[in-house]
Amino acid sequence: MIKNKRFIFALILNIFFFSAFSQASINLVNKAKESGFTLYWDSLSQAGLLEKNGHQLSFSLDKEIIVLDSVLLKISDAPQLKDNQLYVTQKFYDDAAAFLNQKSENPFKVGAILIDAGHGGKDPGAVGPRGTREKDINLSIALQLEKVFKKDKNYKVILTRDDDTFVELVERANIANQNKADLFISVHCNANLNRNASGFEVYFLSENASNKASFSAAILENSVIELEDKNDTKKTALQNMLWSMVVNEYINESSELASFVSQESTGRLKIPNRGVKQDVFYVLRGTQMPAILVETAYISNYTEESKLNTSSFQKAIADSIYEGVKKYYARKAKETKK
Ligand SMILES: [Zn+2]
Repeated sequence: MIKNKRFIFALILNIFFFSAFSQASINLVNKAKESGFTLYWDSLSQAGLLEKNGHQLSFSLDKEIIVLDSVLLKISDAPQLKDNQLYVTQKFYDDAAAFLNQKSENPFKVGAILIDAGHGGKDPGAVGPRGTREKDINLSIALQLEKVFKKDKNYKVILTRDDDTFVELVERANIANQNKADLFISVHCNANLNRNASGFEVYFLSENASNKASFSAAILENSVIELEDKNDTKKTALQNMLWSMVVNEYINESSELASFVSQESTGRLKIPNRGVKQDVFYVLRGTQMPAILVETAYISNYTEESKLNTSSFQKAIADSIYEGVKKYYARKAKETKK
């Protein structure tokens, strides 16, 4: 009898342990952050991606299939959503960690460069004193940039628009993410009520503005949100959290890229260099890669409006960005070799 009781106890214990281990009890967002994994989550397709050391693990909510780099694998403990949070089992996490922590043979490679011509269509952007529309200048520079990059066979280029169409901010980031772009470069012209304001500046994304004066550039560039379909811009708390994680992941690389582009502009552009700044730009917010926003010159400034209209100035801007990107990759390649 006693023997039997013990047997039953052991059985209950076993069932308990089994269910405890197979329960999705690990909060993936927190755990990924702790472990240095980058986590992407697309609430629309209910699919996610964990990344480290150049390795990728893709998963879907409640689907018993994962992809390790390019190998499809069947699992029995699919990730679940509880209270709008992603949860996985201990086993899922341990297996994922074992896979992602492997050192990759060659983690460094140059992917596609995404070039984003700011504004377009119903959104003209800023308008100069002679009526030059920012959207037209941005497009010309983006096309010039595409030409410059295409001459170098090391790079592939993707454009968010190559004509005068309206593209929502979220969609611009989506194009970059879906194409797994390596870098995101948004091209704009600055504007100020003070017509004397002048110069070139480069921004990277932060949750806080680096100074009060730069606040106006972000307000101006973000105002396009007003033109967008409100129903499309709802973001879940989870997505916001993931975004800020992604921001932290790429903030150093974005700032490095911004510095190189800024340095290259000196000498090439005969206008003041206003340096590198941080601000909250919505177009950079959803990007899952290093991202910068270039304010090429002040379209509100009489002299700079003229310059922006010349192909020589547009070419000089394109060269500054291209050379900056090259320096950025040269530095990255050196770091990888160490
Ligand atoms: Zn703009």
